[in-house]
Amino acid sequence: MNIAFIGLGNMGAPMAANLAAAGHSVIGFDVAGATAPGVTQAETAAQAVADARVVITMLPNGAILRTVADDIIPAMAQGAVLLDCSTVDVDSARTVAEQAQAAGLGALDAPVSGGIGGAAAGTLTFMVGGSPEAFAIATPLFDIMGQKAVHCGPSGNGQAAKICNNMILGATMIVTCEAFALADKLGLAREAMFDVVSTSSGSSWSMNAYCPAPGVGPASPADNGYKPGFAADLMLKDLRLSQQAAEAVDADTPMGARALELYRRFVEEESGQGMDFSAMLPRFEKRGRG
Ligand code: NAD
Repeated sequence: MNIAFIGLGNMGAPMAANLAAAGHSVIGFDVAGATAPGVTQAETAAQAVADARVVITMLPNGAILRTVADDIIPAMAQGAVLLDCSTVDVDSARTVAEQAQAAGLGALDAPVSGGIGGAAAGTLTFMVGGSPEAFAIATPLFDIMGQKAVHCGPSGNGQAAKICNNMILGATMIVTCEAFALADKLGLAREAMFDVVSTSSGSSWSMNAYCPAPGVGPASPADNGYKPGFAADLMLKDLRLSQQAAEAVDADTPMGARALELYRRFVEEESGQGMDFSAMLPRFEKRGRG
């Protein structure tokens, strides 16, 4: 398949490289001049997309996605599919999809879970919004770049699933970290805390698969000096998107709002910039109630 790939950053480059390695013809464009193994470099985004059956975008945010969409939609072939894998606001995803459909194109929003490791290994999970027809065209590509693609409904629903998932993750990680810090002060060994909670009703992915306490549970960023992993500033981005969406539809999300405020402080005012999002544990460890 002829594929164009716009945005060859930390995530986009390994995803594009996996498609090329699987035998697809991939033309890439990145405003910073980045490229990826096996990917032919185009001089402009419009040039990259002209002959593509599927155009994949992997960009930093919704404003940039809208700008790129304005540029590439008129240059795309009739019937081609615009597959946006970036994490962006639901409104931008739906606006870009409408614009693509009005131009005779298919459109999918398909944000991912799995991070840079998942992108390199081809084990991402895709949460997908858009028509069943477009989903069927993109499915062989999801199979190469990921291990699972869930069709969540019409355009924007992929982004909706992503921000709801990450709102749960952010709030759960915070409460897991504060519970470890409380257990420390109550004299409970971390290993005992893990053994109980990971097999009890307080268990979660944050505790069981990504334990924020170093030396406890499976290997995680906590065992590597809290080097990301999933960076606290990316969690902050996703929590902002969740609260922006909640405001837009008048949903009451008090835990999501609290998680946003804690990660905002951690990243912008404390030591969280560049740290994994589980580094909330050393943050709570050092604090009292004041
Ligand atoms: P990144 O900043 O490494 O890559 C983005 C790339 O887009 C950069 O190379 C940049 O030069 C390029 N770009 C910016 N404007 C452009 C334009 N107008 N035209 C062409 N290229 C342009 O970011 P990333 O970590 O690869 O993340 C990409 C997306 O994936 C984001 O939306 C992010 O939230 C999401 N995501 C990231 C992770 C992760 O662990 N990094 C995990 C899940 C989802």
